[in-house]
Amino acid sequence: MRLKLHWQIFIALCLGILFGMLGRAAGFENFIIEKVYILGIIFLRALRMVIVPLIVASIISGVTGIGSAENFGRLSLKTFTYYIVTSLLAILTGLVFINLLHPGIGAHLGLHEIPGDLQGNVQKLGDTLLGIIPTNPFRSMVDGKILPTIFFSLLFGFFISKAPKPYNRQLTDFFQGFFEVMMRLTHFIILFTPVGVFAIIAKIIASTGIDVFIPLGGYMVAVVAALSFHAFITLPLLLYFIGGVSPRAMFRAMSAALLTAFSTSSSSATLPLTMSSMENNAGVSNKISSFVLPLGATINMDGTALYECVAAIFIAQVYGVDLSFGQQFIVVLTALLASIGAAGIPMAGFVMMAIILKAVGLPMEGLGLILSVDRILDMMRTSVNVWSDSCGTAIIAKSEGETELKVVK
Ligand code: ASP
Repeated sequence: MRLKLHWQIFIALCLGILFGMLGRAAGFENFIIEKVYILGIIFLRALRMVIVPLIVASIISGVTGIGSAENFGRLSLKTFTYYIVTSLLAILTGLVFINLLHPGIGAHLGLHEIPGDLQGNVQKLGDTLLGIIPTNPFRSMVDGKILPTIFFSLLFGFFISKAPKPYNRQLTDFFQGFFEVMMRLTHFIILFTPVGVFAIIAKIIASTGIDVFIPLGGYMVAVVAALSFHAFITLPLLLYFIGGVSPRAMFRAMSAALLTAFSTSSSSATLPLTMSSMENNAGVSNKISSFVLPLGATINMDGTALYECVAAIFIAQVYGVDLSFGQQFIVVLTALLASIGAAGIPMAGFVMMAIILKAVGLPMEGLGLILSVDRILDMMRTSVNVWSDSCGTAIIAKSEGETELKVVK
């Protein structure tokens, strides 16, 4: 019998850690970084290859099934309400934990340089919002810009259902077929996840080591504790009481996607796995998952929102700045906006920190403090991002009366 995919990924993850540590101890870390990591690059490229066609096919075929504008409006309202409420809950959890544990107060930390390419790399929020409407949808697809691609696909799918006969049927069949092909192609790539995960993790450990974590231990504990609270308490409670969904069954259904999010630190790269796990393991229809998940992978980032808040207040604590209630409120609000604006790629949340520091007048050098541990925290917050998208999809599917769900309590 073949081992289940999530076990394969978990074993690959552990082997990757061991191999990376061995590489550092025995001095062959360059071999891992330069040669072994190529397997990780191949895997990430293959995942990125399917993202745009998968999103387009899935959204168009999903939206044609939604039917009326009224259904569409109701689904959008539920989805955006879920995104905003859970992101705010995550931020507030972060706020409570960092204020209770206050790891930054009195900490003496050496400042590190901020890498030049991260400075000034932040897009203005207004530009991000305007950019949702593509001036040329094909260019957005070619450039891999997710939000404008989603926007155009949603409209296109919706108007297929408004097109006259026989074109509406023909186009619906065409995109349904396109989607079936993309799903099979995605499954094929997913088979190689353990290999990709092994190489990526081995490279991270070989190039960072574990010793950088020690001086920032308190800060990491605060982030991890708050993330765990959100992932293991808040979201499961919502799943159970609002969705009528079993958190344990959901966790089992999504484990391969969560482990992949952990290893790749990218919600976007994980999206193909999230979608296939949601549909095949959790039994959610393509109609719901193709609407909630691609949007969620780009704008619903609970883990990132929580992290932004904790990191900003940690930096304030280290610099001895006492943030007033009003300033903490600004942190909450900007953390929410930053998480919406962050792309689903590694370290996007770190780059967005600049917005919050600027908003409350904290020094940009503060970023240098937390940079060395960002990668490992990124892995955790990305898993929470994907977990929240998945929980939202299940809750919304249940509320829409889906009967094929395999995760009901
Ligand atoms: N890496 C995260 C994600 O893809 C975003 C972040 O950096 O917080 O979801």
